[in-house]
Amino acid sequence: MTVMGCIADDFTGATDLAGLLARSGASVNLRIGIPDTSPVDTADFEVIALKCRTSPVEEAVTECKTALAWLQKTGAERFFWKYCSTFDSTAEGNIGPVAEALMAELGTSQTFYCPAFPENGRSIFMGHLFVGEQLLSESPMKDHPLTPMRQSSLVALLEPQVSKPVGLANRLVVEQGADALRARMASLHDENVAHVVIDAVSNDDLQVIGEVCADMALGTGGSAVAMPLPDIFRKKGLLGPPSASAETAVPHGGSIVLSGSCSAMTQAQVAAYAPEVMAFKLDPLDLADNGASLAKEWLLSQKSKASILIYATAEPAKVKQAQEKLGVARAGALVEEALAELAQVALKAGIRRFVVAGGETSGAVTKALGVDKLTIGQEIAPGVPWTFTKSDGHDIALTLKSGNFGAETFFADALGMLE
Ligand code: ADP
Repeated sequence: MTVMGCIADDFTGATDLAGLLARSGASVNLRIGIPDTSPVDTADFEVIALKCRTSPVEEAVTECKTALAWLQKTGAERFFWKYCSTFDSTAEGNIGPVAEALMAELGTSQTFYCPAFPENGRSIFMGHLFVGEQLLSESPMKDHPLTPMRQSSLVALLEPQVSKPVGLANRLVVEQGADALRARMASLHDENVAHVVIDAVSNDDLQVIGEVCADMALGTGGSAVAMPLPDIFRKKGLLGPPSASAETAVPHGGSIVLSGSCSAMTQAQVAAYAPEVMAFKLDPLDLADNGASLAKEWLLSQKSKASILIYATAEPAKVKQAQEKLGVARAGALVEEALAELAQVALKAGIRRFVVAGGETSGAVTKALGVDKLTIGQEIAPGVPWTFTKSDGHDIALTLKSGNFGAETFFADALGMLE
């Protein structure tokens, strides 16, 4: 029986979460979108990947409630709402509104928020989120094309998104262990605080939070806070021993990197990879006038389908220029649609290994490839596993990389790993 049902607000976030849960040897199913059939072949952890980070609030809430209803049918009694470790959200949501809607459905009066991911340099101290040594609002996230983060206090970010009070359980409490954290949560509950931001700067902190989370109907956060849960559930007798994961055959065929992320790390990854391979740069202004036909022709004309990169990745000034001319949403959509179409062309041309950079981008590409369930494979970098699935009857390998994840050599590392 499924011990926990998880909902992720984007596809890279979902693979990140599924990969970290699978580290423990627990079985994990990653469903792309809400399955339209009742649960069968369920795993210890069921993860549903949605693409609702920047959807209108009502739409995101409805979709997440439907996902929750499906997960409840697996028998799960604990749930997790996964969002980005940089708390990517718009002024309206969707982190808070979805959490509040899930709480109402589950009849629970308190949840917590912990996007910390220490292995990837995301930590929370006194309610403030840091990216490496920088405050979130001073990090490159301030220039994100869709969700620029200009405030670092998670309490301040969350307050306008929810209707009930927000409070903080700080590092000094977490450091004292699970009982102290439970007591702090209880005293906040007495003060009617429904939403508790919890500090974490290390994996030890996440272990403490995991122990508290294991007893709650709903937890929310980044993938890292869920990472200790399988072992905690095992100790509670809720989960069987780890099982060896089945070997998945790596599909033969060409490979492609599709990048629509403009995050600082992806910019460095593209800069490192482009000179080594055949590369094509997409320009949103050109896409608005001519569509993706030029890029398609270029892709089909490539003799070697071994080392191809197509990217829209650009620095903040260029992104701003395109957004001023086209509008933020249209610029983003043009790039996403082009990369999605190019993925379909690549599949038809025999490409079977896909590296995709960018959360929204991954959503668009995965949908275009018509994928509905992913098997989690080996981790390339913390939070980025290879996954295996079928598209149009073909076995494919797919990795979905969140903007700021992975080292500079990520693209070459990822493809090298399949050799
Ligand atoms: P990340 O994981 O880095 O946040 P996403 O794919 O989630 O990446 O978001 C990047 C967004 O920026 C996408 O909607 C993408 O289409 C858009 N985008 C990519 N390149 C450009 C560009 N050159 N100009 C404007 N928008 C762009």
